[in-house]
Parts: sequence; structure tokens; C-alpha cells
Amino acid sequence: MLHYPEQFDGIGIVDQADWTNPKRVVYKPRPFGAQDIDIKIECCGVCGSDIHTAAGNWGDLPKPVVVGHEIIGTVVRKGAGCTSDDIKVGDRVGVGAQCFSCLKCHRCQNNNESYCAKCVTTYGQFFDDGYCSKGGYASHIRVQEHFVIPIPENIPSEYAGPLLCGGNTVFSPLLRNNVGPGKKVGILGIGGIGHMGLIFAKALGAEVYAISRSSAKKEDAFKLGADHFIATKEEPDWAEKYYDTLDLVVVCAGSLKDVDFEHLPHIMQVGGRIVSISVPEQSEQIVLKPFGLLGVSIENSHLGSIEEIKQLLKLVSEKNLRIWIEKYPINEANIHTIFERMLKGDVRYRFVLTDYEKEFN
Ligand SMILES: [Zn+2]
Ligand SMILES: [Zn+2]
Repeated sequence: MLHYPEQFDGIGIVDQADWTNPKRVVYKPRPFGAQDIDIKIECCGVCGSDIHTAAGNWGDLPKPVVVGHEIIGTVVRKGAGCTSDDIKVGDRVGVGAQCFSCLKCHRCQNNNESYCAKCVTTYGQFFDDGYCSKGGYASHIRVQEHFVIPIPENIPSEYAGPLLCGGNTVFSPLLRNNVGPGKKVGILGIGGIGHMGLIFAKALGAEVYAISRSSAKKEDAFKLGADHFIATKEEPDWAEKYYDTLDLVVVCAGSLKDVDFEHLPHIMQVGGRIVSISVPEQSEQIVLKPFGLLGVSIENSHLGSIEEIKQLLKLVSEKNLRIWIEKYPINEANIHTIFERMLKGDVRYRFVLTDYEKEFN
């Protein structure tokens, strides 16, 4: 039986020591505000951040920990203070990795709300009132209107979900570096996010280089849109071979420990940028030699803006792009299986939890 609207039903971590076995939980949402929207969830992608958060890699959180931030569902309630005419009760919408920001500061006003000092991520972060946000492995989610995004009709829900966090996280650096025809773009790390990076960079018209340690994903990479494949562990001379080639590399590896920052700058053109979207364990550090970075910059990007998500959805809709997904009906056992497979890297390339109606109604 559904507990909405007083409470939400979800599947969350209740015991940190047993985090790979989430359990059915019932919890109170934040009080409904005038600018809030309630969404009845239909499906949700599984992001690497879900695993880090569930495992406690980014710190201990109050239980239950309910993750999931590639959410698609239907609007069931709209606050009296909502201003957008694009979103009505009954509409299919999505929510990505961010659910709140101040909307007033310089950053928010300039499409950088993911860099707002008041940014609250969709799960595992605290609002000013002390409530810890809870995500999409649940019957419903309550979100500030600004972070609710209409989904174009021709993108099926399961294919739309992963665009909202993973997809936009790789798309934002592509947009911000003007990726298009004539640009040479490397996608380093061909996993859940990297596979989307290949698809989008190609769709934007760039010449695309997939960069991986081994050639295990070479065939997939070409199917996804790569024009070139660099296997750094199998081609000892890769840094010389591709010297002075790339305008941009987006580092999509889950951790930076194995990224070769010694040689990577060699393959960049002067003015080239290495943008990492990785959010590794809190203790991780990278070591850089300043002279290795002559003419090349390196930065870390965080999510992307709502405007960028809208542009991504437009691109995917117009070009009829399809990411590669594997679906699992949501329930305790399947989330356990997914967590175990994610830990082994056994995913090609994005899991999506489906059949919410069956589990929660
Ligand atoms: Zn994510
Ligand atoms: Zn702000």
C-alpha cells in the first residue's frame, strides 16, 4: 500500500555495514513548499554516485539512505507558487542530480546553479532545515520547480533517465568547450558516462577518440561513435603517436588513480583542456608536475545546468539518439544484484530500474 502523500515508500540503506542489501523503507518527505513539485516515479537510472553514497565513501549519512538521481515520472502535485507553464499535473518530467539551489546568486543567475553554495544534490545532502535529501529508488520525489524538466515525447522514459545526471555531466563540458565540427575530442573511460560521451560528441559533429586502458571495449566504442580508439596499456607509444592532437579530453573514469596525468597532456593541443567529471572517494588526491601542463589546462566539472539538460534532451530528441541500457524491475533483490555488478564493473552501459508501479502500489 502506498503511503503518499504523508510518507514516501522507497528502498534504502538501513545498515551501513550491509549497504549492498537495501531494504524497503517508509519515510517522511520535506514539508511541501509553494515552489515544490511532487513526482510519482516511473523509472530511475543507476549512477556511480549511487554506489559511492550507498557505500558511505562520501561520508556517513542518516538512515535510510535512498539514492537515485536519474528520475523520470509524472507530476502529481504542483505548489501554488510555481511559475512555469511548461509543467502541469499529469506531465512526464525528469529530475537529475540536483534538487535545490538558491536561484538568486550570481552563479544561479548565470546557468551555474550546480556551483551554487546552496546547491542540494538529489540525495545524501542536507537542506538548511537539516533534512537529508532522498532520491529516486522510491515511489515519489519532492523537488523545487526549477529542477523539474519536461521530457520530449519521442524519448522513452528508460532512455531519458540516465541523460539527466550521467548524460548531462559529460554533455556540459562538451558544450562549454564548443565541441562541434573540426574539434577533436577524447573521452577517457568508457563506462556508463563515457559511453554517453562518445554518442554526444559524435552527434555534435566532433572527431571522437575513445581512450581506455585495454581494447576490451573497442568494438563497442566504434559502434557508439568513436572514430579512433587508444588503448593506453596496450600501445606503449600512445603519447607520442597522438602528440598534439586533441582539443578536449573529458575524463569519465570513476577514479583518477589510474589516469596517466604524466602523458595525457602530450596528446593535447596548446590551449587544450582536460576536464574531469570524476567524483572519487573523498581521500583521493592527484599529483601533477607543473611542467607537464605547459599550454594545457585541467579542471573538474560538477554536473551541469538545467539549461544544458534541456539542450541535451533536444539533441537526443532531434537526432533520435539512444544510449545503451539494461533494465531491472525495482525491488530489494535486484538492487542488490545491480550493486554487486556495478562493483565488478559488469555493466554495459547503464542500469535502469523500472516497474515502479508493481513494487510500490
Ligand atoms: Zn549521477
Ligand atoms: Zn545560488
